[in-house]
Amino acid sequence: KVRVRFAPSPTGPLHMGGVRTALFNYLFAKKLGGDFLLRIEDTDQTRYVPGAEEYIIESLKWCGLVPDEGLGFGGEYGPYRQSERKAIYRQYADQLVESGHAYYAFDTPDELDVLRKEAEENKTVFSYDLHTRNKLNNSLTLPAEEVQQKIANGDAWVIRFKMPENVDVIEKDLIRGEVKFNTNQLDDKVLFKADGMPTYHLANVVDDHLMKISHVIRGEEWLPSMPLHVLLYQALGWSERPQFAHLPLILKPTGKGKLSKRDGDKMGFPVFPLLWKDPKSGELSRGYREDGYFPEAFVNLLALLGWNAGTEQEFFSMDELIENFSLERVVKSGARFDPEKAKWFNRHYLQQKSDEELAELFKPILAEKEVVADDAKVIRVVAMIKERCEFAHDLWEQGSYFFEAPTSYDEKTIKKKWKAETPDMLREIVAMLKTIENWEAGAVKEQFSAFMNEKGWGFGVVMAPIRLTLVGSAQGVDLFDIFELIGQDETISRIEKAIE
Ligand code: GLU
Repeated sequence: KVRVRFAPSPTGPLHMGGVRTALFNYLFAKKLGGDFLLRIEDTDQTRYVPGAEEYIIESLKWCGLVPDEGLGFGGEYGPYRQSERKAIYRQYADQLVESGHAYYAFDTPDELDVLRKEAEENKTVFSYDLHTRNKLNNSLTLPAEEVQQKIANGDAWVIRFKMPENVDVIEKDLIRGEVKFNTNQLDDKVLFKADGMPTYHLANVVDDHLMKISHVIRGEEWLPSMPLHVLLYQALGWSERPQFAHLPLILKPTGKGKLSKRDGDKMGFPVFPLLWKDPKSGELSRGYREDGYFPEAFVNLLALLGWNAGTEQEFFSMDELIENFSLERVVKSGARFDPEKAKWFNRHYLQQKSDEELAELFKPILAEKEVVADDAKVIRVVAMIKERCEFAHDLWEQGSYFFEAPTSYDEKTIKKKWKAETPDMLREIVAMLKTIENWEAGAVKEQFSAFMNEKGWGFGVVMAPIRLTLVGSAQGVDLFDIFELIGQDETISRIEKAIE
């Protein structure tokens, strides 16, 4: 059975890259009738950030990526938080030491730092590996009694993987094809620490095995870990292992380098799904949700970062994504993120909403502006202006004049369109407007036109000034629709106010 997992570490807010990993896992599972799990990888307690776990769960829910199993979602393979599985990992670390695949290392972090600095001075990089391990203090170099003694004394230790010498690890990646690593290039990663916690590598492999994960779909940054993981499965005697798929990076809008929070700050777009408040600094980071994106748009744009259906189609509902998704169509090269395109997606989903749905989104914005308006009017306004909007909050920018008289008039329009004779002309128009009995847009337009003909005035001369008095600028929908919606009294009063 297909079982995949999203395994974030709660070290901060989930980045869009993380959500995309979750999405591809979800789509893969749903397409093949499998399970999608959420596992929290919190073995590195020094990097734990309070609130991050809740943030991850809320983000997944907002996107509609609800796990079948996992932290907060139940399931038979729990606990799904690694810090609660501590006891499980120890035995596997011991097993690896006993079978000769791992060893105790007694070098303290300070001692290793000295070696790193030395290497730096010699313009090399220190690595705890098969070239250096024989010169260091570990259970491969020290006599057995001394090893026992050190452990009994409570000396600092870690368990490291003993990377075999000169072995080619060849593994098929479902996106990249065959990938080859030689173990001489790899170091002896720490698997287990004296505080009783495994490191990412050991916990990840043990959990994938125990949770019966069939496919590991994760970001490209984990590709270098794949050979170690493969070797760990072998060393633990697990002949079956998941298949791997490493997703391409998400690149900056320029296409150069990995997308980071700083790019978003600089260019004004979010890189996180939800608003995040850093618990230490209190700093706020924007989120797609709070910026007014619809989850459908966010999911759609993420899906196309590194995947395509092989057709021209760009708009996909979640069901369509599930139906069309395959790892074969995930690209190897990085996927450039385009913030303008993100807005374009949102615009699309906004246009898909009914006027009633949009009115519901508009109402809280109106309430915030202390505007009182009946539903029928809000719905009609929305219908007229939605085409001009990318986000629900644009509804106010595009339609505030339906609810509020302008408080200022656009200078440029005044210069261009407001002539010496304009006030007198508008005075006559006001007088005419006052006589109109049927204030429905079509009817007003008819009487208005008749009046203009009679006067021999061109529409161009009066329409722009009137628009300026009603809207405050040269923007807005059809003038007669504005007349009708704001009503006769308000229309007249706005014009009068401008010519007073
Ligand atoms: N905990 C890792 C992360 O934060 C998981 C990587 C994996 O999926 O193996 O991305």
